[in-house]
Amino acid sequence: MITVIPTTVQMRGHCESLRQSGKRIAFVPTMGFLHEGHLSLMRIGRRMADVLVVSIFVNPTQFGPGEDFESYPRNMERDLELCRREGAELIFTPTAEELYSQGFETRVQLAQLPQHLCGLSRPVFFNGVATVVTKLFNIVRPHAAVFGEKDFQQLQVIRRMVRDLDFGIDIVAGPIVREADGLAMSSRNAYLTPEQRPSALSLSRSLTLARERIEDGLTDARELIQIVSDGIHSHPENRIDYVAVCHPETLEDIDTIDRTVLLALAVWVGKTRLIDNALLTP
Ligand code: AMP
Repeated sequence: MITVIPTTVQMRGHCESLRQSGKRIAFVPTMGFLHEGHLSLMRIGRRMADVLVVSIFVNPTQFGPGEDFESYPRNMERDLELCRREGAELIFTPTAEELYSQGFETRVQLAQLPQHLCGLSRPVFFNGVATVVTKLFNIVRPHAAVFGEKDFQQLQVIRRMVRDLDFGIDIVAGPIVREADGLAMSSRNAYLTPEQRPSALSLSRSLTLARERIEDGLTDARELIQIVSDGIHSHPENRIDYVAVCHPETLEDIDTIDRTVLLALAVWVGKTRLIDNALLTP
C-alpha cells in the first residue's frame, strides 16, 4: 500500500512510528518526473531496508534566478504510479509553503565542495540542496538514503554534510542509468528536441572516448580536457559550461592522471543544461 503525505507533521509521525516498530527506513529524495535513474535508486533502497520512503519536491531554493524552476517537468500522477510499482510505501509531496514557512532564514552551507564544477555557474544550487536535504532528513530520519552518481558533486556534498553534521545516515550511491544510446537519464532530457539528440549524445560519447584514451596511456589532464571539449564542440549548438578532471572526493583539479579521477562535464545543448561524468582509472 502506498501512502501519499503532503504535510511535515504527518510525515514525521508516520516515519517515527515505523522506526518505533523497528523498521529500517531507506529514503530516496527526488524532484519527480521520475525515470529509470530514480527507479534504480528506489530498488537499491528497497533491498537494503524494510520501508522505502520517496520524496517528490521541486525545491525552489536550489534554482537560481532565470533558471527553470517554473518550467521544470512535473507529472505527479505518473510518478505516484511508478513509486507504487517499485514498492515505495510512503511518498512525501510537500508544497514549498509547507517546507519553507514565513520568515525561513536558516541555510546549510558547505565551504569548499561548492567552489567547483556546477557550484561555479549555479552559485545557490548546493546551498539549496544541502538545506532541503537536511530538512528532509530531519523529517524522515531515515537509516539510509540513496543518491545517484549522475549528480556526483551533489553526492559528495551530501556525504560531506552527513559526516560533518553527524546525521548518522548511511549514504548509498547508485550508478548512472543511461538510455540505450548512452544519454544519461535526466528529467531535463524532456526539454531536448529530436534534432538536439546527437548534440546531447556527445557528452556520453566523449566520456567513452576519454576512457579509451586513458586506457591507451594518456595521463595529461589538459590534453584529455581538450579532446573531450573538441568532441563536444563538434556540435555547433553545444556550449561548454565546464569539462574538468578532478579528485573524486575534494573535486580539486588534477593535472596528471596517475590514479582514479572524476571526469565531469556540464554542457548547454541549446537552452538545456546537461551534466554527465565518469570515474576513470589509468
Ligand atoms: P532529481 O530528481 O534530478 O533531483 O534526482 C533525484 C535523484 O536521482 C538524485 O540522487 C539523482 O542523482 C538521481 N538520478 C538522476 N538521474 C539519474 C540517473 N540517470 N542515474 C542514476 N541516478 C540518477
